[in-house]
Amino acid sequence: MTVLEAFKSMEYGPAPESDAEALAWIEQRGSQFGHFIDGEFTTPKNLFETHNPATSQVLAKVSSGTKRDVDLAVAAATSAQPDWEGLGGSGRSRFLYALARLVQRNSRLLSVLETLDNGKPIRETRDIDIPLVARHFYYHAGWARLLKSEFPDYEAIGVAGQIIPWNFPLLMLAWKVAPALAAGNTVVLKPAEYTPLSALCFAELCQEVGLPRGVVNIITGAGDTGALISGHRKIDKVAFTGSSDVGRTIRRQTAGQGKKLTLELGGKSPFIVFDDADIDGAVEGLVDAIWFNQGQVCCAGSRLLVQESIAEPVLTKIKARMDKLRVGNPLDKSIDMGAIIDPVQRSRIVEMVRLGIEEGAEIHQPVGPMPEGGCFYPPTLLSSAEPAMKIVQEEIFGPVLVAMTFRTPDEAIELANNTRYGLAASVWTENINLALDVAPKVKAGIVWVNSTNLFDAAAGFGGYRESGYGREGGREGMFEYLKPSYLKALAAAKPSKPPLATKRGSGLNAIDRTRKLYIGGKQVRPDSGYDRLIFSASGEQIGQVGEGNRKDIRNAVEAARSAAGWATTTGHARAQILYYIAENLSARAPEFAATLGSMNTGKHQEEILASIDRLFCYAAWADKYDGAVHQVPIRGAALAMNEPIGVIGMACPNEAPLLSFVSLVAPAIAMGNCVVALPSQDHPIAATDLYQVFETSDLPSGVVNIVTGDHDVLTKALSEHSGVDAMWHFGSDQAGEAVERASIGNLKRTWVLGGKALNWFDEDQGEGREFLRHATQVKNIWIPYGE
Ligand code: NDP
Repeated sequence: MTVLEAFKSMEYGPAPESDAEALAWIEQRGSQFGHFIDGEFTTPKNLFETHNPATSQVLAKVSSGTKRDVDLAVAAATSAQPDWEGLGGSGRSRFLYALARLVQRNSRLLSVLETLDNGKPIRETRDIDIPLVARHFYYHAGWARLLKSEFPDYEAIGVAGQIIPWNFPLLMLAWKVAPALAAGNTVVLKPAEYTPLSALCFAELCQEVGLPRGVVNIITGAGDTGALISGHRKIDKVAFTGSSDVGRTIRRQTAGQGKKLTLELGGKSPFIVFDDADIDGAVEGLVDAIWFNQGQVCCAGSRLLVQESIAEPVLTKIKARMDKLRVGNPLDKSIDMGAIIDPVQRSRIVEMVRLGIEEGAEIHQPVGPMPEGGCFYPPTLLSSAEPAMKIVQEEIFGPVLVAMTFRTPDEAIELANNTRYGLAASVWTENINLALDVAPKVKAGIVWVNSTNLFDAAAGFGGYRESGYGREGGREGMFEYLKPSYLKALAAAKPSKPPLATKRGSGLNAIDRTRKLYIGGKQVRPDSGYDRLIFSASGEQIGQVGEGNRKDIRNAVEAARSAAGWATTTGHARAQILYYIAENLSARAPEFAATLGSMNTGKHQEEILASIDRLFCYAAWADKYDGAVHQVPIRGAALAMNEPIGVIGMACPNEAPLLSFVSLVAPAIAMGNCVVALPSQDHPIAATDLYQVFETSDLPSGVVNIVTGDHDVLTKALSEHSGVDAMWHFGSDQAGEAVERASIGNLKRTWVLGGKALNWFDEDQGEGREFLRHATQVKNIWIPYGE
């Protein structure tokens, strides 16, 4: 045997990390834990067990949170919040910094505790989870200090209810608690039933730094305890990470409660390997993408898309690499994969793999037995998969890679986007042009170029489409815990009058006087064949508009979707068109002023001038709402790009009917979205008179579509439509609730003001970054950069 052969045949010896300190920590607390409420631990009650998935042994007993526990925690958080916010950014910053330091000081204890409770390798908890936890607290200590200068005119939301999963227990806590506290909120957090221990240890760190009582409250328990938190009337903001099903349940439960909501849900992220990629690098990347944390990662690269010409060598290398992966005691420092969280989760994985084979996929698993006594599952490859298979479409949430091939970059992008999710993607190629061509085309919140599963507090994390909404980390993550200061002083929205008499549109007179719908750049008759009479504020009939219905909405959405090329038009070109619209509106200002005058709604002269000015405002913004470059602490940079959301449905209010319409449509189209707008129900005529302005302003067909009629009917149709990506609603409280409830189908983003009315004439309320933020979603593209 040569030296090289001898070296190659060497096996790793065991290198176990001691669990003594962590077990002693549990024992010293009687192996039983209460909740952490108002700065103290409660007496343990209603106990359930938490296990070590690698050995199936019971680690401790933990309390199951009841309604009373949740009420007490919310009460503590509510009474602590004003003083915590009042402490100011500098004061809060010191606590966050102290927490970061304490996490670092206790990093070994936290790492081992996390590995014991979760089953993930100590290598990961020690080198990834816990350092990132500390990083999050440091980073957000910084935001707290800068809050006043960097987020002027924003304030804390109040009490945040936070529900986290078991796959990154302490890291998910940090992602939620750090920004919430930095912004001045207090929190009630529920860790997952399977993994409560590191959160309870964190509660002790809060005591140790002297965090004011009630600022952080931790309630342990199962899903029903979570539901008590997310549905609690005094919780102002819910942040959830977990399955899409529970995400939908929470959206339904919180509809109409005026809560701000962020959902970080599942994914089925593509890992795309082009034929010019560094194949060895890509294979190593794949190990991190799908076998990191046993594949129990929302952004796991679980769908391998490999170019057909290199599929065979790539799959051969993957199999060879899989055969070398070591599955076993997660406390062993040279182990690659630890245990699956629970037998329930393992049986889900087993069932999905069985289904995959039944559907025709080929399976590869390393030979050899799995470790005994715990909950283990081997690394698994399912190749020859087809796009429609369940294993390709559904999240497996285990160490199972599903592989498919593609021929051209276009096909790769099509396959990558053939999913209802949109969390992350990895692109592997040595061709920078190709990588940066693919990155914007993949519908995902994070794209890693020649890398995978990189995370940092400075780079926002979160999904597109059914992977949820909102971002964690970065500046955008801070906005999830802030609200504009003006919100609390808003007046109630003006209710719409009950539907007015409609009559069959007939005869020459009706054709002349009726404003039609505006769909796909054309004026069209409503499908119903009915018109709606429109009256001035003082009750005189001033015209009639089409009575749109569900079918018109479908046509309008189709037109908007087919105008998607607008998203890739340059900001400069969009600005030109907005300027042109402003100019053409200006040329017809007297006519519009007369229409507004006939409606008798109030300040019609000012309204037309403000509408023209608002168009100028968004023409100005169209090429200036830039993203950012985050200097993440790795060999790379993260480009945060503000991308359009897609098709935005919007129900415009009755207040200032022309100005509010312009104030909503203009930022949306300035950012590259297409729009289906319902103008004010009671005063639609000013908006319908814009058709000719649009027609003479080079606005491409389908970018703006306008449907008039009964808002309840049309809003419902828009909110339920799976082709609509976001829904903005400015109207009554009940209608806003209906929008939130109807949005769960495709988890569309919603923006409702809970029955409040903005003052559209006030520039602080009626224009600016708040609108642009709602009109965009941030994509973080991680690229190799520097040494
Ligand atoms: P869940 O979505 O059920 O759990 C996430 C968190 O929500 C847990 O704290 C859970 O409590 C809590 N919860 C459950 N039901 C409710 C409710 N009605 N209201 C409020 N909170 C609730 O994930 P699971 O742990 O059950 O895993 C199921 C599947 O979800 C996995 O197979 C995987 O596909 C996916 N998943 C995705 C994650 C992601 O990050 N994208 C993370 C975890 C799971 P409890 O711990 O008691 O269940």
